[in-house]
Amino acid sequence: MRSYKAKAVEPIRLPDRDARTEALDAAGHNVFNLDSEDVYVDLLTDSGTGTMSDEQWAALMRGDEAYAGSSSFSRLRSAVEDVMGFEHVVPTHQGRGAENVLYGTLVEEGDVVLNNTHFDTTRAHVANQGAEAVDCPVDGAWDRSVEGDFLGNFDVEKGRAVAEEVGAENVPVVVTTITNNSAAGQPVSLENIRATANLADELDAWFVIDACRFAENAHFVQARESGQRDRSLAAIAREQLSYADAVTMSGKKDGLVNIGGFAAMRDDDLFEHAKQRAILYEGFPTYGGLAGRDIEAMAVGLREAVEPPYVDERVEQVATLGELLSEAEIPIVTPTGGHAVYVDAGELLPHIPTEEFPGQRLVCELYREGAVRSVELGSFAFPGADRPDYVRLAVPRRTYWREHLEHVAETAAAVREKREEYVGLEIVEEPPMKELRHFSARLESVEE
Ligand SMILES: *Cc1c(COP(=O)(O)O)cnc(C)c1O
Repeated sequence: MRSYKAKAVEPIRLPDRDARTEALDAAGHNVFNLDSEDVYVDLLTDSGTGTMSDEQWAALMRGDEAYAGSSSFSRLRSAVEDVMGFEHVVPTHQGRGAENVLYGTLVEEGDVVLNNTHFDTTRAHVANQGAEAVDCPVDGAWDRSVEGDFLGNFDVEKGRAVAEEVGAENVPVVVTTITNNSAAGQPVSLENIRATANLADELDAWFVIDACRFAENAHFVQARESGQRDRSLAAIAREQLSYADAVTMSGKKDGLVNIGGFAAMRDDDLFEHAKQRAILYEGFPTYGGLAGRDIEAMAVGLREAVEPPYVDERVEQVATLGELLSEAEIPIVTPTGGHAVYVDAGELLPHIPTEEFPGQRLVCELYREGAVRSVELGSFAFPGADRPDYVRLAVPRRTYWREHLEHVAETAAAVREKREEYVGLEIVEEPPMKELRHFSARLESVEE
């Protein structure tokens, strides 16, 4: 049962097949180059694409646009303190702004940063400091045949071994990303967060949580971790973060807004340093590159994110999409994570070698068959990385109905029917930075 109804609607349309093929060709087989008007169900990302509540829209009007000392900032500070338990907050334009502010303050050239799995922008900010980002996912995190309750966990032994190798004094920060976005959105247990905090303590390092999906993670802890079922989601959400010295947050995820983010911390000195960097890159530290109204909407969204039944319905919707796809015999990662369903394109299209991007072919054909937009997170997006050829179908928050998800599953079934007809793709134009190629490269079908 849905606990909300629509108050504003946005028309969408399904272009006919010829128009879809034309759009796909014009986009160079890269769905980042499509006009959103030509997309029927847009599962490219769940970042900033969700629907705000009427309370959030009302809050926009309350936005205080003062350059300094805005009352909207005070309301954000109260929300962060109540929901996440941090006294100090530095607003930023989005999550990567928070990463720049925090890691730019804590990390130096030659350092090593440990993380269960660095999200792309986190890895880039660590690299930008001249430091090395080392992932410590648990075994099986990348293996579709392995099922587990907390496959997003940080492998503490692995982290300790890396620290011994490079020297604890070179590890200033240990991070855990909840949920573990890059490992199929799998959750992290409270027990594991505690153990990782202890590791950081042993290493005399800061313990940071990438809290983008802290509410979704709390949902999984409540549902799966022993002794947690009867606790409130809000209490679990707070406990998760209570072990961290600081968090980075993208408001576009569990802040339930279209733009915004922040870093939050306990230490007074760290706060002062972070504010200085924020002034340089984001803006005065009571607005951080955001309009007062955006901050206001984020303050409301943060509170809504831990109010039942919001997050239960959200995670269930992702699970429903997974079930519909499984019924259509599409190979997906199970159990589904918090924000997206991951399809194993390598398994669906085994005749297309990984160098010819089976994931990108699947992305293209999902668009051609049903104007569904998804994203490749395999050999095309991560050149040279040893990753499976997954395609991600990310579900925007509070936005689509079951009928849309059924359309996605029917589209995938139609693609599956034709799977033997598909050929691989090759890149014909790419930007100078290989790491960013999936955003703009153009591709063509390989000659048979
Ligand atoms: C989205 C995301 C970020 C970056 O946030 P932006 O708002 O996109 O800059 C960082 N970490 C994780 C886990 C994310 O999902």
